[in-house]
Amino acid sequence: MVVASNGSSPLVYSNGTKVPQSTLSSDSVVNVEKGDPMIFSPYWEKMNDECTVVIKAQELMSYVCDENSLCFYMLPQMRDAILRIHNVVGNAVTKDNYIVLGTGSSQLYHAALYALSPSQPPNHPINVVAAAPYYSEYPDATEVLQSRLFKWSGDANTYNKNEPYIELVTSPNNPDGAMRTPVVKSKAQGKIIYDLAYYWPQFTPITHQLNHDLMLFTLSKSTGHAGSRIGWAIVKDIEVAKNMIKFMRLSSVGVSRESQIRATKLLEVICDSYQNLKSIKSELFFSHSKRLMKERWEKFKGVIEQSNVFTLVKNPIAYCNFTKETSESYPAFAWLKSAEGIKDGEKYLEKFNICTRGGERFGVDAKYVRISMISTDGEFNELLRRLLKVKRG
Ligand code: PMP
Repeated sequence: MVVASNGSSPLVYSNGTKVPQSTLSSDSVVNVEKGDPMIFSPYWEKMNDECTVVIKAQELMSYVCDENSLCFYMLPQMRDAILRIHNVVGNAVTKDNYIVLGTGSSQLYHAALYALSPSQPPNHPINVVAAAPYYSEYPDATEVLQSRLFKWSGDANTYNKNEPYIELVTSPNNPDGAMRTPVVKSKAQGKIIYDLAYYWPQFTPITHQLNHDLMLFTLSKSTGHAGSRIGWAIVKDIEVAKNMIKFMRLSSVGVSRESQIRATKLLEVICDSYQNLKSIKSELFFSHSKRLMKERWEKFKGVIEQSNVFTLVKNPIAYCNFTKETSESYPAFAWLKSAEGIKDGEKYLEKFNICTRGGERFGVDAKYVRISMISTDGEFNELLRRLLKVKRG
């Protein structure tokens, strides 16, 4: 469905239906700068009965969940739910691998850098690189502690030092949705962290069951429960897993058990519905969330085509082993390039009260700009309304 403007309000889609009124006033800023996954909230609202958890006052008081387990602070049912969701979706191999739980994958990023960095000179601080455009948080997250173990060394495409390195491979990539593989060509020893936050069926076709040495996943983008702060790493090498757990013990003595209970419930409900163990009132989660992403992308592309101000790269198309159909990717972010004559896409959109994240934060030109596709319905509809006013002849 393509959005068409008749030049004045009300704005209408090409089939004649109106662009829904948003709750935002026209002079307020529409913030599509952050990646808060609020798009899935109405789905979970419908699932309240199935997903509510009750925690009694005397429960979950200990630091320790399972003394005999390597990841001593992870509830056994949390671990089972993680194994189950990967088994249902088929996006990662868990067999013979270790699961390390974290407070979001952000904390596990630090744990992974700690575990992969050489502890002895002369190879430290080790260089940490990612191919531009890279996830905008990596440079600051790498540098915040001014570590003696690792240092941010920029764009992996241009890395030519003959020194050991850690390469971050984000696939699908934030900001541009591209499916990625490592790019560093140096002959020096390299280790890779796969950040797979968006490797879920609503965002991209699941083409392979990935089985890399260190893979990061997060509840924030899989179910949309960013506030629970649950992430997990799938790790091949026991020494790396042990060192990540050591980092977790020293930085936060584990992960909130309340959050684990909630995350477990959400993942179990999704798995039960796919394995036909329990029927649910709503559509299946990944079909529903993929449909929402597709609808948003179709509307968004229509508006951008009309604007003549920005261009979009084509989203990849592939056969999805999970949905059993060939389909396009529907990334969590749109990555726009400004037309000739516009040097700064973020500043340009500021004039329309649209707050975005500019290309320089991702290690590229300010001509580029990232827009969240996973905001609330209200924010998204208001974004479309404002983009309809962004036009060049
Ligand atoms: N990696 C990528 C590529 C992300 O986009 C995000 C969230 N924006 C994260 C990691 C961090 O996710 P979490 O909420 O699990 O800390």
